[in-house]
This record gives sequence, C-alpha cells and structure tokens, in this order.
Amino acid sequence: MPGTLTIPYAIGEECWYIGPGHREIEVPCPDCAGSKRVTLVRGDGTQVSLECNTCQLGYDPPRGFITRTIYECRPRPFIPRRVEVRGDEVTYSASGPEATCFSTVRAEDMFTDRDECAKACEQRNQEHAAEEAAREMANIKSKHRSQAHALHYHGGCIKRLERELEHHRRKWQEIDAKAKARKGKEA
Ligand SMILES: [Zn+2]
Repeated sequence: MPGTLTIPYAIGEECWYIGPGHREIEVPCPDCAGSKRVTLVRGDGTQVSLECNTCQLGYDPPRGFITRTIYECRPRPFIPRRVEVRGDEVTYSASGPEATCFSTVRAEDMFTDRDECAKACEQRNQEHAAEEAAREMANIKSKHRSQAHALHYHGGCIKRLERELEHHRRKWQEIDAKAKARKGKEA
C-alpha cells in the first residue's frame, strides 16, 4: 500500500522562520575589571601582581575587556519554494526547484504565526546565551588554571635556582678562602 507523506507547510504558504542573528560586544574583563592586572594570593598568603591573562589573546598584552556574543534570532518572513525530505527531517528553501545553490530552513524552525515564531526566537536566544555563559566560564577557569600553574612552575624554578646559587656561592667562598690562606702563607 503506497504511503502518503504530509509535509508540514505547503509550497507558497506564507511562513516565518527563526532567522539567525548575533553580534559581538565588548564587556569589561570579569577578572581585572579593565585594569589589566590581577593579584594572585599564593597558598602561603603572599601576594603577586600579574598581568591578567583572562583578557589576553594569545601572547598579546591584556586588553582589559573580553568579547561576548549576543544572540539575536528574530522572526523572518519565508515563503517555501521547494521541500526536501531526508529520513525524518523536512527542510524547505525559499529558492525554487531550479536553483542549484540554495539555503535551507528546517521545518521545526518554521511557523505560520509570527508571534509563535517570536517566542521560539526568544527561547533560542536564551539557550544560546546560556551556552555562551557556560563556555565563557569554562574558558576563564582554564585560564586561571594555566596562570596558577605558571606561577607554581616559576616559583619552583626560583626556589631551585636559589638553592643552586647558594651551593655555588658556598663552594666559591671555600675556594676563595683557601686561595687567600695560601697567599697569606707565601707572603
Ligand atoms: Zn583582564
């Protein structure tokens, strides 16, 4: 028995879809508040002032701000001219069937009612904003880890070099003292 497939929207029907949109804004760095420096308190309570690396891009100096993406999906009018069904995914395009290059919109992102579409846009924007916030938090945490690691690493190097310096200074003083004693005898 041949099955009948019902497509959710008719060709030529006036629709709305979740039109993508976003922009980047600059916000003060959450760590240094624009001062480009942070104070790190070590485990023993001593404080170190460091260049802020939260607002640093690569090896450039800190910028004092970070960029954040603001999502602004909004309803856009859409008249489907072609439809494609692949598995259980239905996509439409505003380009006619003769077009060889076209963009598609998923049926679940389409609405016949503008208000319903606007609600879906708002929800999409909130979801993206939450994802963006989580990504930003993860990024800041990873930068904190790398800065704390660098501090620990360099602190370790300083201690080791100080011990070595002390060792070599002692050796040098011993040799110097012996040389002076010898000179004293010869004189
Ligand atoms: Zn900063």
